[in-house]
Amino acid sequence: MINKIKALAKEYEKEIIERRRHFHMNPEISWNETETTKYIAQELRNLGCENIKVGFGGTQCGVIADVTGGKPGKCVALRADIDALPLNDEKDVAYKSQKAGAMHACGHDAHTSVLLGAAKILTQIKGDLKGKVRLMFQPAEESGIRPGAKALVDGGALDGVDAAFGIHVMSTIPSGVLEYRSGPFMAAADTLEILIGGKGGHGSTPESAFDPTIAAFQIGSALQSVVSREICPRDTAVVSICGIKTSSHVFNIIPERVEIVGSCRTFRPEVQDRVEEAIGRISRGVGESLRCKIDLKYTRILPATVNDASVTELVKSTAEKLMGADKVRESALIMGSEDFSYYANKVPAAFVSLGTGAPEKKTDMPHHSPKFDVDEDALYLGAALHAAFAWTFLNQELSEKGK
Ligand SMILES: [Zn+2]
Ligand SMILES: [Zn+2]
Repeated sequence: MINKIKALAKEYEKEIIERRRHFHMNPEISWNETETTKYIAQELRNLGCENIKVGFGGTQCGVIADVTGGKPGKCVALRADIDALPLNDEKDVAYKSQKAGAMHACGHDAHTSVLLGAAKILTQIKGDLKGKVRLMFQPAEESGIRPGAKALVDGGALDGVDAAFGIHVMSTIPSGVLEYRSGPFMAAADTLEILIGGKGGHGSTPESAFDPTIAAFQIGSALQSVVSREICPRDTAVVSICGIKTSSHVFNIIPERVEIVGSCRTFRPEVQDRVEEAIGRISRGVGESLRCKIDLKYTRILPATVNDASVTELVKSTAEKLMGADKVRESALIMGSEDFSYYANKVPAAFVSLGTGAPEKKTDMPHHSPKFDVDEDALYLGAALHAAFAWTFLNQELSEKGK
């Protein structure tokens, strides 16, 4: 069956690429993906999918549907994110974005067309499928504060689902190579805002002010000890100060307030708790010693993406059969974050990276850059992997895993 799936994916390759270009030319940013949603829903109707549900999070964005197999069994969810980013496309290609201020610079156009390709493969083999496949086309992965994955989970997209699978294309990995990782894979993303309240005054008379800039300098330095002195060296964490703003920016005014913003990344809840606690304790201690008032707002934006060991093993063995063992390798931890974590927190799941980086085709540019592109020659493999994983999960008994 794996060979048949791969042959079908190759057969649909042209269509997958054409569709990817359609999405690339017509990008829609997070929570604005109404036309993209309509396009996908129509295609799912054409394929004869069932239980099509359009619109999540009180919007008309996002769509889920089922491919129901000919025999009873479990339910496996396959996920694609469909949103673009708010930036201008600076590539010189025929399929460049037609919209100013919107661009598929993370490859979610590829994810969408790849999953539609998988849907077509699955409808061809559904008579042999035990159980059903839930296709999830999710909006707003990039939104940060309002994750599309959470809206899908809240909207019941995972009801009755036994496992979930997702793929991200990756420009830093050679085209056609798959990377997997069991356990923690992508970091949790938190934001920190520290508001330092002092007492302003004249730059020439510091003794009459409580200077919040001095507190900000010292807090910024002291926070460098969170990762180096508070976190076990075997754990991984990042605390980055990314911005400092004073309430006035004049050469002879000591400002009233300073605001520090930054980003924290961790993989384990215990480490995340410790980072938040230490940032609060150190900021307050240092700030108060300098007669400033500290308000910390620490926001947990996205949980860490933790892959289930047995689902990951199944993905790995399926990918090896499909692509060859030399094209499948273990990933390093990724400090970036993904809202796929909301699915992985709910059901056993695996999220993997599919390489689309080919320097000779200029598809090795960083994600979120205005020249980002994907090597389309790898996309049929993504469609095949989605379908092959679903088939293997539904049709193989546990004891047969990896055969
Ligand atoms: Zn992205
Ligand atoms: Zn992405």
